[in-house]
Amino acid sequence: MSWEIPPYHSDSSYPESYYANSVSNSRKSKTLKGSLETDVCIIGAGFTGLSAAIFLTERGFRVIVLEGAKVGWGASGRNGGQAINGFSGSIDSIRNLLGDGSAQLAHEMFEEGVRLIEYLMENYAVECDFKHGNLALAITARQARRLEREVNARQQNNQGDFEYLDQDSLAGHVGSQLYCAGYIDRKSGHLHPLKLALGEAGALEQLGGEIFENTPAIAINELPSKVEIKTPGGRILCSKLVLGCNGYLNLKGHRVSRQILPVFSEIVATEPLSDELAMEVMPSDSSAFDVRFLPDYYRLSADKRILFGSSTDYGRPSKYQTGSRSLARMHKVFPVLENAGIDFAWRGKFAVTLNRLPQLGTIGPRIYYGHGYCGHGVNCSHLFGKLISEAIKGNTERFDIFAKMPQRKFPGGRHLRIPLTMVGAHFYQARDWLGF
Ligand SMILES: Cc1cc2nc3c(=O)[nH]c(=O)nc-3n(C[C@H](O)[C@H](O)[C@H](O)COP(=O)(O)OP(=O)(O)OC[C@H]3O[C@@H](n4cnc5c(N)ncnc54)[C@H](O)[C@@H]3O)c2cc1C
Repeated sequence: MSWEIPPYHSDSSYPESYYANSVSNSRKSKTLKGSLETDVCIIGAGFTGLSAAIFLTERGFRVIVLEGAKVGWGASGRNGGQAINGFSGSIDSIRNLLGDGSAQLAHEMFEEGVRLIEYLMENYAVECDFKHGNLALAITARQARRLEREVNARQQNNQGDFEYLDQDSLAGHVGSQLYCAGYIDRKSGHLHPLKLALGEAGALEQLGGEIFENTPAIAINELPSKVEIKTPGGRILCSKLVLGCNGYLNLKGHRVSRQILPVFSEIVATEPLSDELAMEVMPSDSSAFDVRFLPDYYRLSADKRILFGSSTDYGRPSKYQTGSRSLARMHKVFPVLENAGIDFAWRGKFAVTLNRLPQLGTIGPRIYYGHGYCGHGVNCSHLFGKLISEAIKGNTERFDIFAKMPQRKFPGGRHLRIPLTMVGAHFYQARDWLGF
């Protein structure tokens, strides 16, 4: 089989963001010119691609990463930085579909993504402002009951380090009147995602892996015993190919592209707050998200800005000015920030799936993919990169748990899938407004 990949961006420099403005990137960038052969080629230098690349290179595989823009240019370098343990989809749904053995293995993977990040920080001196502590927040009594049940279940299953917080105890974590309860997950946390991506790229190169930036893959051809990837200035021949393209994946004509829908979200970064104001809004310096269908998510940066994300647009970015809706939400959550200056506003794209389960799988015997992390992308992309590396090494036991989960196409075909998904999203938003 052969697939063309249409161009997916018009500007390969980092978008103006707090992250791009707070890293020093001394990497020497190179672009592919000519032909190379390797064991594994990976398309996409986000967390999925970099994680797979590092764990394969550690095991002696020759790995080449092709990045159409720059390392961490996609969602990995512009997200909210919340590294939240677990994956979308419950262990119970895995038990129902695949039985107790798979559920136990999935249970053991619950905290693995964040542990892998900690492993990379320790073993490759990756510096990314990591801090422990993540809050899930309830606005309605019904949401509060849901969170309490979740904490009880997690404690019973011995998962993570969770504590339910009533309104009084929540005041020690978030300075907002909007919430009636929440929980803290002490093993999750937050970090500077672009520093992490660049640190991982450095680790990979230290191990002997190669990254070509500004090198989009424009076509993939399955040959009898190899895969050929064409780029504007060259080509790669490899034994295995990994697609780490997430919301940018567009294999023309293949079902895998129709199984995900690109979604856009936006973040604003305030000016650095005074110590007193930072303490007033986020006293425990944890990251936080509310549990509505389309949530707000926010945290303090290392230099005490509030990074506040909100809004979700399906299929294409909205026409609103970037950051305007996040800013309005931030003022609602924290009226005390009404006069805080805004230094940056940016948006980014990631993939969601129809059943909100992340997708891991293969196309034929030589092509692997992982994407659609639906809210746990920082954690899950690292886990899935590792699982892909295990499968390529020949051990598919853990990979298969996720690869066997149902992967459905969005209904409605090319023209109706976005409007239909928006109708579904409005339904869930309406439930949130009505307090369900
Ligand atoms: C605004 C925003 C906020 C978010 N907040 C959070 C959060 O707080 N916590 C969380 O867990 N998740 C969050 N996410 C989601 C999370 O960032 C993603 O799930 C995760 O980073 C996906 O990593 P990835 O490597 O799979 O994809 P990406 O990081 O998007 O990487 C894909 C890469 O592939 C490259 N690429 C694509 N096509 C080609 C091609 N043809 N040739 C070469 N290269 C190609 C792209 O340039 C890109 O660099 C957020 C996402 C956004 C956009």
